[in-house]
Amino acid sequence: MIYFDNAATTRLDTDAFEAMKPYLLCDFGNASQPYSFSRKPKKALKKAREIIAKCINAFPEEIYFTSCGTESDNWALKGYYLSQNGKDVRIITSSIEHHAVLNCCKTIEKLGGRVDYLPVNSNGEIDTLSLEEIVSQNSLVSIMFVNNEIGSIQNIKDLCSIAHKNNCIFHTDAVQAIGHLRIDVKDLGVDMLSASAHKFNGPKGIGFLYINKNMNLPSFIDGGSQEFGKRAGTENIASIVGMAAALKKNCELLEENTTRIKKMERLLMDRLYSSGLDFRRNGSGNGIPGNISLSFRGIDGELLLHRLDLMGYSVSTGSACDGKKNQISHVIKAIGVNKEYAKGTIRISLSKDNTEEEISLFCNDIEQLVKTLVK
Ligand code: PLP
Repeated sequence: MIYFDNAATTRLDTDAFEAMKPYLLCDFGNASQPYSFSRKPKKALKKAREIIAKCINAFPEEIYFTSCGTESDNWALKGYYLSQNGKDVRIITSSIEHHAVLNCCKTIEKLGGRVDYLPVNSNGEIDTLSLEEIVSQNSLVSIMFVNNEIGSIQNIKDLCSIAHKNNCIFHTDAVQAIGHLRIDVKDLGVDMLSASAHKFNGPKGIGFLYINKNMNLPSFIDGGSQEFGKRAGTENIASIVGMAAALKKNCELLEENTTRIKKMERLLMDRLYSSGLDFRRNGSGNGIPGNISLSFRGIDGELLLHRLDLMGYSVSTGSACDGKKNQISHVIKAIGVNKEYAKGTIRISLSKDNTEEEISLFCNDIEQLVKTLVK
């Protein structure tokens, strides 16, 4: 099996796994208990929070552990809605957000809030002017850092600055960015940032929300006093420790991994461009390294995915959460891909664990396959 779906999830890093083990098997105490058996997990929780904070230049008390990126997004958006105490709520987001954000927006609209969706250009990028044109005082602006389907990167610093000039709060869904791009929350100025461990070689089922200490976001999950009284539930120490170890390692090796992934991406694109196949690449090509969205003319992307699966390759037709719907994704629609190509879209997402040999095998196979499938 050759795995090319790293934007959906990544392999757990072996060092992260080793770091987790003691907290599953031996030091399993509840970190909130006062006795000495809980001292180690309590210390591990504190240390993990410090490590993660350092990776994004935050203060440890600004890191709140959650169960995943989806929960972090829900907390940021619905928490903002709750914080407005029935006042008119306005959210400005983009048309290409992940469903974790888009479906929160739908709920907020049902509750009477107003949501505006910024358009993107054909590369999946937001023009900062489009935010300036519609922004109004005291709104929440929520814009994803990196798009999961086509890898486009938004100008978060400038968008955030426009939001702040208008007394708005700024949240970014950085689930596809953390561990793959250098992120400094203070330099960017963001008020909230969502992350998920399984996108950067950490375990599944754990994430975090960065909340700037000047923000007063209400708690989202009520119960005990964990996470500074803002997110109740017994802490998942093993996963938190695994997430911290994975993020630290990814940040330390970021340039090295990026160079490696970019080289494989270039190899793949050069081979495909010289194959004579009729396809287009979605996004500018300058997005997050390794996220390659391709639309083949006259092909059914779903069929292509299944045929590639039979040949031993895991690729995706778009976002992992959209996989069963068999329809053109909102992102591909938003960037205006011609229908003849749009239906034939697949996403290949590489990681540092892939090899040039895998790329070469894939290029040979996809070239043959597409030629037999083309109508
Ligand atoms: N946001 C983006 C941009 C994503 O790509 C994903 C997952 O694919 C999520 C949010 C949801 O993250 P999780 O799977 O941790 O809930």
